[in-house]
Amino acid sequence: MIRKIRRHLGWKLFISYLIIIVVGAIVLTSAAELAIPRSFDRHLSSMASMMNGMMGESGVGIDLNADLFDNFQAAVNESLWLATLSSFIVAIVVSLFVSRRVVAPIREMMSASQRIADGDYDKRVKISLPPNLDDLDELAQLAISFNQMAEKLEKTEMMRSQLIGDVAHELRTPLSAIKGSMEGLIDGVLPAQVETFQQIHRETSRLQRLVDDLQELSRIEAGSYDLDIQPQMISRLVENTMTRIGRQYVEKDVHLSNEIPEGLPMVNVDGDRISQVLLNLVGNALQYTPHGGEVSIRAWHENDEVLVEIKDTGVGIPKEHLPHIFSRFYRVDKSRARASGGSGIGLTISKHIIEAHNGRIWAESPGPEQGSTFFFSLPLAE
Ligand code: ADP
Repeated sequence: MIRKIRRHLGWKLFISYLIIIVVGAIVLTSAAELAIPRSFDRHLSSMASMMNGMMGESGVGIDLNADLFDNFQAAVNESLWLATLSSFIVAIVVSLFVSRRVVAPIREMMSASQRIADGDYDKRVKISLPPNLDDLDELAQLAISFNQMAEKLEKTEMMRSQLIGDVAHELRTPLSAIKGSMEGLIDGVLPAQVETFQQIHRETSRLQRLVDDLQELSRIEAGSYDLDIQPQMISRLVENTMTRIGRQYVEKDVHLSNEIPEGLPMVNVDGDRISQVLLNLVGNALQYTPHGGEVSIRAWHENDEVLVEIKDTGVGIPKEHLPHIFSRFYRVDKSRARASGGSGIGLTISKHIIEAHNGRIWAESPGPEQGSTFFFSLPLAE
């Protein structure tokens, strides 16, 4: 019962009104108890002296009953007034105290939401937590939800300003390269030759790729895409990817192979999205593996997942960079990645896609120039 009262604001309000009524009644009764005998005594003694005087003068009795009744009524009225007044004052004080306690957290939330609306995102509501968290009433739960919402807003706002900073930084390099080339052409410092225009064309292509990647990233991060989940054979998705990228491997003279056992269970995935991840990982492997290198794709069944591995003999990834490569715009070797058109967004998108499938993605590398291996897991189809 006590637990129920603690957890429900309605019960708390009901009990507080009950307390006010009980306090009022106690004060009323005690004030009446105290006041009635005294005022009764006073009225009766004044009546007795009046009667003595009258009887002494004329010896004639008056209507004793009527007088006694009047005086009794006056005594009761007087004491009731006194009792009502005092219980009224006490009830007002108690109600003020109770309503303040109830309204205080609402007021705090009001001022906090106002501050947040004004851009002060670190504002939070103070919550006094009971020893047992199951005993939180509706107001405390509202305050907790409010704080969670404020925290999310703060995080989103931080990400937003960080993203704007990152994008501005990413755009600056190709833009200043284009501007430099154009100024060189205008001043006649650079010759108006095909190479100069090709250089400008490369930079604009990089800008275009960056903008496309950003658009895709924002769609994926906002979750504004639908997954068309179907049972799929991972071997088929891998083969499609190899067909799409095979020519580039031949051109760079990197050997691409796959080792996927027959009879591997099907996975529950959106085929297009997983192909996008495979293309990103197999594309990266090609990009970061020099001529004559090797890239192999393996897949196997483990517990209730299928694991996929893309292993290359390329430049490798230093240990200290491994935890960051899935963060947006992160590149191990900034100048090399930028020169090859890398935006540092591909792995971020892949991570989002794999996690949307309830899978995991990670990378391992023994160190620089010792190759890298990327893994991801996918849930089995029932
Ligand atoms: P990018 O477009 O720059 O390749 P990604 O998000 O795909 O962006 O990769 C982030 C960074 O991770 C790359 O810039 C690179 O430094 C590193 N990286 C990714 N794949 C490999 C790989 N197979 N070998 C070595 N480094 C890699």
